[in-house]
Amino acid sequence: MPEDAGAGFATWILEGTRPSGIAPPNQAAPRRRTLSLDDYAAGVLAHDPSVLGRAITLVESNAAAHQALAQQLLTRLLPHTGRAQRIGITGIPGAGKSTFIEAFGCELTRRGLKVAVLAIDPSSSVSGGSILGDKVRMEKLSRQPGAFIRPSPSGGSLGGVTRKTREAILVCEAAGYDVIVVETVGVGQNEVAVRAMVDYFLVLMIAGAGDEVQGIKKGVIELADTLVINKADGDNLPRATAAQAEMKRVLHYLHPATHGWTTDALLVSSLTGAGVPGVWEETQEFFRTARQTGELERRRRAQAVEWMHALIGESLRTRFYASPAVKLKLPQIELAVANGEKPALAAAMELLGQ
Ligand code: GDP
Repeated sequence: MPEDAGAGFATWILEGTRPSGIAPPNQAAPRRRTLSLDDYAAGVLAHDPSVLGRAITLVESNAAAHQALAQQLLTRLLPHTGRAQRIGITGIPGAGKSTFIEAFGCELTRRGLKVAVLAIDPSSSVSGGSILGDKVRMEKLSRQPGAFIRPSPSGGSLGGVTRKTREAILVCEAAGYDVIVVETVGVGQNEVAVRAMVDYFLVLMIAGAGDEVQGIKKGVIELADTLVINKADGDNLPRATAAQAEMKRVLHYLHPATHGWTTDALLVSSLTGAGVPGVWEETQEFFRTARQTGELERRRRAQAVEWMHALIGESLRTRFYASPAVKLKLPQIELAVANGEKPALAAAMELLGQ
């Protein structure tokens, strides 16, 4: 199997979402040719978007041979990573994430910055379909030469999302992107996973029918470095303004997500672009502050170590459940636990003893 077959790269690249630098799949010879480790590394470091796309496909692959090559590639790329600003963006479906990211991304490319957007699509593992894949998203941004947009398939597990997205961030950084935006739909635990891999976390919200904020959980608000109230335009402006005042009150009582930084609530209209430059200025203020306080450095170091522990945990778990003895005994022990015949702890110890 070629290394880019496993993750369904072709199905993710929608007509019209391909960044201008990326050649159509069937046209360019390099997409047909198997790339060596040297080809991958040289292409990524030379900021070649087509090799970047293939390198991400490689790190996303679940095949053992691809994973081995991917780890070699990541080891080569690691010295060239760490310079980008890693920004997480979440919000409920319909909050306007893709509209916002498009406006925000275009603001950055206008400033001469290169921006990569990695969009996690949680639906692809659940339904086999896709929230993100069925509409052409961020069309205007995808046409900007400095932009790269890549939906990140969820691979069936949260651990899968996390590994693939984290590694995709590193590959994009090595390819010279200044800002990496990781988008996640605010429907589950994804926010916590994304928070753990970015420097700065932005929660996009909308006002409800009254002045209340819609559908967002307190736990998610606590993760935010900036709250952005979207759709502050037209008839909705008074409601958005009231929601902003409400959020400022709420924030007053919450612990800030980042030590030494005060989370604020900003108004934007992703449709008209009003307020979007203000979000970028707030972002830059955050990075200045977090660098000064040392919080940025501390967070990245802690994230890298936590990530290593998460990988150890995941690997142990996989090996445990793959063990033939465990596979054999598990059904009967599960039944005994369900029937109340065996305490859960005793059952767990017995299985771990295998
Ligand atoms: P997502 O599901 O969070 O990615 O949301 P979308 O970006 O697809 O936006 C959902 C709907 O809200 C679309 O119809 C957008 O046109 C609309 N929308 C997004 N941002 C704004 C905005 O700032 N103002 C208004 N009025 N509509 C917006």
